[in-house]
Parts: sequence; structure tokens; C-alpha cells
Amino acid sequence: MVNIAADVWAHADVEPGRVAIRSPRTITYRELRQANERVAGAVRGAGVRPLDRVLFIAPSIPEFPEIYYGLHAAGATVITMNTMATPAEIGYVLDDAGVALVIAWHDCAASAVAAAKERGLPCWRVEPGFAFDAEPLRDVHQHESDDTALILYTSGTTGRPKGAELTAANLVDTVSSFEPVLNLSKDDRFGTGLPLFHVYGQAVCMNTTLATGASFSLVHPFDPARMLEVMVADRLTSLAGVPTMWNAMLHVEGDYTPEDFSALRMATSGGASLPVEVIRAFNERFACTILEGYGLTESTGAATFNDLNRPQKAGTVGPPLPGTRIEIRDSEGNTLGPGEPGEVFIAGPTVMKGYWNRPDATAADLRDGWLRTGDIGSLDEDGYLSIVDRVKDLIIRGGYNVYPREVEEVLYEHPEIVEVAVVGIPDPHYGEEVAAVAVLSEGATATPETIRAWAKERLSAYKVPHVFAFVDALPKGATGKILKRAIDRDALRSIATG
Ligand code: AMP
Repeated sequence: MVNIAADVWAHADVEPGRVAIRSPRTITYRELRQANERVAGAVRGAGVRPLDRVLFIAPSIPEFPEIYYGLHAAGATVITMNTMATPAEIGYVLDDAGVALVIAWHDCAASAVAAAKERGLPCWRVEPGFAFDAEPLRDVHQHESDDTALILYTSGTTGRPKGAELTAANLVDTVSSFEPVLNLSKDDRFGTGLPLFHVYGQAVCMNTTLATGASFSLVHPFDPARMLEVMVADRLTSLAGVPTMWNAMLHVEGDYTPEDFSALRMATSGGASLPVEVIRAFNERFACTILEGYGLTESTGAATFNDLNRPQKAGTVGPPLPGTRIEIRDSEGNTLGPGEPGEVFIAGPTVMKGYWNRPDATAADLRDGWLRTGDIGSLDEDGYLSIVDRVKDLIIRGGYNVYPREVEEVLYEHPEIVEVAVVGIPDPHYGEEVAAVAVLSEGATATPETIRAWAKERLSAYKVPHVFAFVDALPKGATGKILKRAIDRDALRSIATG
């Protein structure tokens, strides 16, 4: 019998005055539990039964955990979505998952209201200071381990978005996987600017922090200067983010010294590969290492992590988390040995149950408990995983494999490159050609020619980008991850053909 809400509520019983949310306003564990009980009572009062689907859309604000754990306590299957979702995207999820109730934060509720109205579904638009007029639900619904507690939509290895079904046990097992490797205790002060609707901000950061009894500080919308202020004001001990956030934080001006950040003992990074150069610069500025991990929506955000208690290897995503197994397989399904790149497969307690109502997609990506990731990686002799790329990102130029990650890693070392993405574009001669889209620092004087010459000194000739485009910003997804598929390849092609 499990429920992530029960693990959070336990701290209200033991130490009710302990701070659960520290920024942007303080909420104690007792207050959090009381808010959850009212939400749980209200949704039950509205006729929501355990395992009914409830769609909840909100940004990374204190009201998120107030509502989220209330829904879990009532036993609902929670679905969260990007706050920027359109009515059509929301409508797709409402129909696909058979949603019974929609709850949306007022300033991002318009699309949800429209989609729910079209289907005659109830939609609660919640505002600051909301209070539900209902009898609080004092007892958490006890789930079976295999009950679907959360559905998150993701496209998986192919196709349209599908609902990854994460069980009640997946959620608590994610917490127990991370707790020991992060040495997390209730005295930690965890901060993030990640979106809470995504698996990383939600199941990894928020659940792990609040189920441990630590405090959680939120910066919304993410602003690097504000993040530094909160780090100092809340004396944050732990941070979580994606590489683009670290990059932005490194470029914040200000009279900070490493002593200002002396409480900080770790920063965790995931979602996209972390350039070793960013780790170095972060360490220099904040006197703290960034530990990289790897996971997917389908593995509740968990799989591997550069454990604090083992030697860390920068440039790898670490060994598997406790209880998790990783295999590297070739295209025929044979298991490969150390050093050999292939597709990454994951098995363990955080791997999803399947895709909601999609037996075919489930069978394609999940076999005998092993999840197919669509990522290419290799394990070293010590079992540390390196992600070389996603299957679809692999560039094959004239028969040679070019892994964009490797090229990006080198380009990030260029002093005038702030951000860069390397992609393949069609080429009549080589099949594919390597192209790079970069954001340069202010006042930069680099040209495609000078960067190419610079890269040639560091990379085999076939890996050096043939085409360079300089842009003001790269397209990014909800977590700040660079969206390679949104990069305009036709424009790159026209540069290539002159
Ligand atoms: P999502 O389901 O949105 O969490 O995206 C999962 C995908 O993000 C993985 O399949 C990887 O392609 C990518 N990813 C996550 N963490 C890392 C990492 N540390 N390095 C490289 N790619 C990562």
C-alpha cells in the first residue's frame, strides 16, 4: 500500500512546523498537508474516485504541491502538462486519457478552459488564495503498488505523444533511488527553476525533496539572476537544473564571491548532455560540482546518476541508481560489452508500467521489463554510462558516424560560443553533412571560417561542421532543453549550397 502523498504528510505528523516551501513564500509541512486535505476533500466531493484521471496544469509555484499531493491523496491518477499547451494539445490528452476533471492555474487556464468546455468537462480555474469549501479528506488513499498514480505525455522513441503510466510504486521508488546517492536529509534546502509539470522537476526534485522532509525553493519563471539571489537568501544546499540554466547562471553579472554560495554542496543536472566545460566554469564560480544524471519520462526521470559516494566521472551520466540495471544493445538486440556504443536499455523499479491504452507502443518499447530508450550510449569498465546521442540525432556522413554530442563538447570550449547545437542536414555527396547553430557572446568577432579552423585543430576533419549559422537564441522545450528537431534545417541547407 503506497502513496507519495503519505510520505510527504509523514513530516507534518513528526515536525509540523518544519518548512516545506521556502521561496517565493513559506509553507510549513503542516500547512502543506492542510491544503492537500482540502483539495483531496474537494475533488472527492466533486465525484472523483480513486484512479479517475485529473488533469492539472500549473507553473512552478507553491500552489503546485498544494494541489498535486491533494490529488494523490484522493487517489486520483494525476496528469500534468506544459503550461503553454494549446487547446488542441489539451483536448488530445482529455480524450486520450478519459479525463474526469481539469484543474488549471488562472494565468495559464485559458486553453484548458476552452478544451474542457468543448467536451462538457468540469474545469476549475484556481487563483492565488484559493480555498475549497469542502470537508477535508484526512486519510490518504492507499494505492496498490501497480496502480497508475501519474500519466505524463511524451513521444517516446517514435510518433505522437503517448501517456507514460507511472505507478504509485514508481513514484516512491524514484525517491528511494535518489535519496542515498544525493545524501539528502531533512536539513537540505533544495532549489530549482525547473518546470514542475515535467518528470524531472516533479518526480525527481519535488517528490524527493518533500518526501525527505527537506525544504524546496522555487524560482518561477526561471531567471538566472533571481536564481542566484535565492541561492544566497535561502542558503540553498542543493540545486537542480538543465545545462542551459547553468550556462545562463554563469553569465549573471554581480559582486558575488564563492563564499556567498558556501552552503551549496551539490548541483544536479539532467535532461540533456552537460558539457565538461560548463562543469569546470560552474565549479570555478560556485565552488561546487555539478553531478550529471540521466533518465526519461518513462523511467520516472531516474536511471543513472553520478553518485556523491562514488568517484565522479565528468562527461558521464554516472552508474545506474540503486536497483536499476542498464544494458547496451546493438540493433539485433545483442548485449554489448564495455566501450561499445549501442542503444541504452533500462530495467528497474522506476520503469513505467506502459503507455496508456497503447499496447502496440508498449510492446515496442518495453519488453520483459526492459525499456528501450532511443538513446545511444556506452558503459565503461566501472559501469558508468556515457550518452553519446539519441538514435535520431546520429549523423552519418559518408559512412562515418558523427555524434553531435562530441562535436558540441568541443565547440563549447570556444571562448565566444555561449550555446550550440549540432545537427545533420541532407547532403548530395555525403548523404548527410554536419551543421552547427550557435549563439555567440556579445561583441564576439568569430566567423564560420575562424571557428572551423579552430575546430579542425581539435576534431577529425569529417566531424568539423561544414555549415555554421549564428542565431540569437536556440529553440528550447519546457525544461530549457535545446529542441534539435525545431532547428530550421532548410535554412542550414541553403547556407550549405551558398
Ligand atoms: P524526457 O522524457 O523529456 O525526460 O527526455 C528524456 C531524454 O532526454 C532521454 O531519452 C535523453 O535523450 C535525454 N537526456 C536526459 N538526460 C540526459 C543526459 N544527462 N545527457 C544526454 N541526454 C539526456
